[in-house]
Amino acid sequence: MSGTEKPLPPMTAETRPFWDGCRAGELRYQYCRACDRVQFYPRSICARCGRSALEWRRSNGTGTVYAFTVVYRPPSAAFAADVPYAIALVDLDEGFRMMTNVIDCDPEAVAIGDRVRVVFERRADTVLPHFTPVHPHTPKERG
Ligand SMILES: [Zn+2]
Repeated sequence: MSGTEKPLPPMTAETRPFWDGCRAGELRYQYCRACDRVQFYPRSICARCGRSALEWRRSNGTGTVYAFTVVYRPPSAAFAADVPYAIALVDLDEGFRMMTNVIDCDPEAVAIGDRVRVVFERRADTVLPHFTPVHPHTPKERG
């Protein structure tokens, strides 16, 4: 990798419906009919019961920040213009957790417990799910 292009997530047969959903403006997750459990990331079988009774469901796209970090040092040159930015673990209302970026806000104002909603960002041929605060923060006082 040259370092000037942002890496894209891998596409597999298991994850394709998820990425197709992002292109369609839908955040999708898997639900196991055998054991009544949601799972994320996508897999070909249920991580709990091992069966393949999985179906895709559409998330309402809202959740809560479980944990986050603010990145100040870009991991590669491709991210140099983005810092600082917030990476978070978001607990979706349907009961699954995903790692994502929190965008369109002051990254230093992101807090655990913030309510966030999904927004989709096109990058090359892929559409990535990111999140933004439901109630935008007023910028932090800096002194
Ligand atoms: Zn199961």
